[in-house]
Amino acid sequence: MSDKKPVRVVIAGGGTAGWMMASAIARTMGHTVDLTLVESEAIGTIGVGESTIPPLVNFNRILGIPEPDFMRATQATFKLGILFDNWKHDGDSYFHSFGLSGKDHWSAGFQHFWLNARERGLEQPYEDYCLELVAGMQGKFAHLPEDRMNYAYHVDATLYGRYLRKLAEADGCTRVEGKISRVELDGESGDIAALHLDGERRIEGDMFVDCTGFRGLLIDGALHAGFEDWSHWLPNDSAIAVQSKHLGPPMPYTQAIAHDAGWQWRIPLQHRMGAGIVYTSGYLSRDEAYDRLMGSVGEPLIEPFDIKFKGGVRRKQWFRNCVAVGLAGGFVEPLEATTVHLIQRAVLRFIRLMPNGRVSERDAQEFNDQQRTDIEQIRDFVVLHYKATNRRDSPFWRHVAAMPIPDSLQQKIELFRETGRVFRKNEELFAENSWVQVMMGQGIEPQSYHPIAAKLRDDEVERLFQTLRDNIAETVATLPEHHAYVARYCGAE
Ligand code: FAD
Repeated sequence: MSDKKPVRVVIAGGGTAGWMMASAIARTMGHTVDLTLVESEAIGTIGVGESTIPPLVNFNRILGIPEPDFMRATQATFKLGILFDNWKHDGDSYFHSFGLSGKDHWSAGFQHFWLNARERGLEQPYEDYCLELVAGMQGKFAHLPEDRMNYAYHVDATLYGRYLRKLAEADGCTRVEGKISRVELDGESGDIAALHLDGERRIEGDMFVDCTGFRGLLIDGALHAGFEDWSHWLPNDSAIAVQSKHLGPPMPYTQAIAHDAGWQWRIPLQHRMGAGIVYTSGYLSRDEAYDRLMGSVGEPLIEPFDIKFKGGVRRKQWFRNCVAVGLAGGFVEPLEATTVHLIQRAVLRFIRLMPNGRVSERDAQEFNDQQRTDIEQIRDFVVLHYKATNRRDSPFWRHVAAMPIPDSLQQKIELFRETGRVFRKNEELFAENSWVQVMMGQGIEPQSYHPIAAKLRDDEVERLFQTLRDNIAETVATLPEHHAYVARYCGAE
């Protein structure tokens, strides 16, 4: 065994970000890291963040977490996508699923073949060619061989934090309870030297991870890394969250229901529903938002609580010897449930770039570039839902339909509108089919498609599409009800 001193990593904050970071470092780095996490029960966590996307399955696998155990402990359900109600126009619905649609050719995505087939008389909608979508809408789920069903989870955020804490502590992370009252900077380097806690305690470290949520106590409060405000693209700034009894059996999808100044979420867990309303305070009063939320959920199980936020990103998420992860690093509103994923990316990235002694500016630069690409791509995807809509029925919708958008998004929308094409760049999170489902779901109609789609004869096209539909129908017919499957899988039945 090497006698090299372990790197002292201090994590400030014990929300989802703090404990995901702690459990992953503790499990992966072992004795090479001396790991401490400081959290304050009195301050608590944000208490939302319950809908996830598929890469979390992989994160759990990296940590060696047995899935049934995880699902029992976090009261999780499976998620196959998001049902968007009232987004294209009031009364319309579409589903953004995690699956692939139909069959791609390397030169052209399935949408090209579907657009061509529709011209030849195909009547069935694009939605009919995605297994996850058809299963989700029918409330069905099962694990299929070779991971044929791409899924994520709905989790109880508090229970998930507790679960990860247990793992991290078992793997050697030291947890310190207390309020950080001061961040001490090294007089010479300007790096963080130590955290001071109430009760005269001082915790030194080599690297500090700021997981203190929107406060950004280290990255902003002490290091003033700066914040780039994106509220001109993401105007929602308020939410009210509640937990309620179920109105029906938990479905394997999140619901995002647009209203005239934002949207509402419904996240079905095993034991309860997570629900909330997101809105722009300039267009809807807090009381109206509250009434709207409480009028649409089951019996509340907790007192609803308010959250204020601002869309944007830290100018540097890694600055000096501090890395900001989770809400401390930046935030794109939760419409596509991507923040836990950004945490996961930051956690794995930080472990890959773990300093060996002195912090390298190159590591920090690399981390910042990669994180920034991720969050910008997610921002564009979320902004798409507001920009591409036929809704003009309220000042909010007229505002978002008219707002300027990032050039990167403009290019994506126009390319799709003119040619039906979508390209996934720089390991982008959302694959071609995600963009296609949301762009078509929001009402963008491609004016053309790839010429290769015309290559097949009419009878071949008919057979291909019929076979695709038949395969999906046959598979879905064999699937159990999602809630029954979850109960069995978790050993409750
Ligand atoms: P927090 O949960 O706020 O944790 C901060 C921690 O820092 C706490 O432990 C706190 O005690 C500690 N702390 C703060 N100050 C001090 C101090 N002075 N001393 C000691 N400790 C301190 N993400 C998704 O992926 N899916 C979703 O569906 C989703 N929904 C969301 C809905 C809304 C309305 C919002 C606002 C966010 C949502 N998110 C979602 C984001 C998600 O909630 C967060 O990414 C996730 O919970 C991680 O939060 P965090 O750990 O960064 O911060």
